[in-house]
Order: sequence, then C-alpha cells, then structure tokens
Amino acid sequence: MKHLIFTVCFVILHHSFAQKVGISVSSRFFHPLSKNDPLSTLDIIEKLNVTQIDWLYCSESSKIKLLKERNIKFSLAINPQIPDSGEYTAKGRIIGLNGEKYIAPWMKVWNQKNPNWGCVNSPFFNDLFIRKSKELVDLGAYAILVDDSRFNEQSVESGGCFCEYCVNKFTRYLIDLGHTEINDKFNYKEYLKSQGIMKFKYRDNTILYRQEFCDFQRKSVINFLNNWKYSIKTYSQKVDLLTNNYRGKWDSIYSIFDGGICEIVTDSLTDSYFQRIVKINNELKKSQSFTLVSNDIGLNLQFLLLCKKYSITAIAPWDVFIGTGKDNKPLRYYLDVDILAALYKNYSLFKGYKIIKNKDNSLLTLQFKKISNKKYILRNKAD
Ligand SMILES: [Zn+2]
Repeated sequence: MKHLIFTVCFVILHHSFAQKVGISVSSRFFHPLSKNDPLSTLDIIEKLNVTQIDWLYCSESSKIKLLKERNIKFSLAINPQIPDSGEYTAKGRIIGLNGEKYIAPWMKVWNQKNPNWGCVNSPFFNDLFIRKSKELVDLGAYAILVDDSRFNEQSVESGGCFCEYCVNKFTRYLIDLGHTEINDKFNYKEYLKSQGIMKFKYRDNTILYRQEFCDFQRKSVINFLNNWKYSIKTYSQKVDLLTNNYRGKWDSIYSIFDGGICEIVTDSLTDSYFQRIVKINNELKKSQSFTLVSNDIGLNLQFLLLCKKYSITAIAPWDVFIGTGKDNKPLRYYLDVDILAALYKNYSLFKGYKIIKNKDNSLLTLQFKKISNKKYILRNKAD
C-alpha cells in the first residue's frame, strides 16, 4: 500500500512538470584549462545529461568537435574585448576624454591581457567584430552570444568615447539635428577641454550637448549591431543572435537580438517575475534563459524549480559568474553535481525539499518532503 501511495504521488507530481526543457550549462571555458584544472566540461555533460552549452568562449575546433560528437547544441560568446593584436586590445578601442582606454568598472581589478572595449564607431573594430563572429558561425554554433552588448552606451557612464571617429561623427550628428550654431570644424572633445571639463559626466546637466552625446553613443551601438546582425544573418540564416540582457529587459539595444540570457538576482525569484517574463517574451517572440547570480544552494534549487515550472531554460549553476573574489578574480560557483543530476532526473522529488545545516555549517542534509511514510534523504555532504 505504501508503495502504491508513493507511485500515485510521483505520477501526479511528475505530470505537472511534464514539459521538456533542455538542460544547459554555461561552461564559460572548456575545462580542463590546464593539467591542474580539476574541472571537466565533458564530465559535466555526461553527468547532467546536458543538451546544450551556452555562453562558451572557445574557438578551438578540436574541442568543438567533442561537443558535436555528443550532439550538444552550443552558443559561442564574443565580447567588446576581442583582441586585435595577439592577445591584446590595442586598436579601435573606446578612448576617454584624456586618451585613456575604457575598461568596464567591474573588470578593473581582473588584470586581463585584453581589458579594453572596442569602439562601435571604429571601422577597424567593426570589421574585426564581424570577422570574429563569422569564425564562430563556422564552428557550428547554434547561436552567437554577445557578452556585454551595450558597448559605447555603457561606457558613457564612465566618460564615453572620444576617439577620432566618435568626435567626427558627433559633429555630423549635431549638424543633422539642426544645430546651426556649429559647423563641421566643431570638435566636441576640444570644446569640453576648453571648458575645463576633464571628464564627461553623463548626468551633469550643465554640460553642453550632454544629452545629445549620450543619445549619439546609444544610436551608434544600435547602428553597429544592426549592421553586424545583417552581416551575420546574411552569412548564415540559421544562427540565432543572443545577448546577456540585464534583468530580462528588452531595450533599444537588447531588442536587436533574437534572445537573451539573463543573469537574474535573487530578488527576482518570484512567481510574478517569472510570469511577467514569460508574457513579455511571448509577446516579443524572444527566447530567454536565466542564470542565477548566487552561491546559496537553497536559492539555486528554488531558481531551478521556478525555471522548470515556467519552461524557461535555466543555466545550470555550475561554473556561473557570481562576482569578483578576494583575489581580484572573477568568482564562479559550482553546485554539487550529484544534487544537480538528481534534480534533473526528477524535479518532482524536489518539491518540498528542505535544507538542514549543522550549526557550524559543516554538514548539509537535503531532506525531501514526506511523500510516503518515509523521508527521503539524498545525501550528507561536507560543506
Ligand atoms: Zn569612439
């Protein structure tokens, strides 16, 4: 009888989660990266029965071949920091008012070889970005993911771009807007410096043409991405174009893409947020997957269950970015593989799970809801 009760409960619970959503991981890099790297992308594929990999930085065809052999769909990532000179970012970059090359504020401590973002108004960077994207298409990616697609628009928050292309184009932009008080000799960079302005502040209303400059930088990104999209879609009609859209938003830049991968924050783990996202994406016909920015196991399980409930692809919490660590390196989170594998095998078992921790956090027990007269305990694990 006990067995019968268990079976009936299981079937009912299982049925409510019947819609199939692919299992995606975001192995940001193809592990192992070196002989000392204990992580393995292929291992995780096998253990979690992964069907796709998203946001992967990889251009080595020998590694890509391993994914193809396993019938794994993969999206390959590109970002504003594509190197142009060996491993370095030297040419066609965003340059501030005082000649400094732009580094995203959250990356300043990462000490990368290629920290500088490309300028969307640089013809050199335009060609580079299209060429590198086509190389990713050639590797067989189902999608190209532009990681940080706001380019110059984002840089405005830290001073914007005053490279020769931006300065010249901005003069033309102002004249086309009907600013008859200037002529084609006008140089916005020189003008700001003549006013003693050492840094362009995007919220400072006292700066002449401040709003026009912000609009110009945003529109430049839109033009750049539309041109890039045309080139890539002409090159391959099949490939999807994705971006990491903050909080699942679709603004004038993100809307250029077919879909988004959103790094959601923990306050978004609510039914109302997920319902809103599903509604918006259905209306706009955008694909949307989520990755959670948290290293809390309970929140991550809650996240995976919500994604399952709303048929949204969840990037498995394995190798996901959660901020910058004390060592000034990007901090990544890996949820226990066995727990993840159990969840993907049987979501319904996790309905009503409970996490019990020892007071000193040394022991973690994952305890499941009583669905017969037994309690189901998956594992005990040193934290
Ligand atoms: Zn520029």
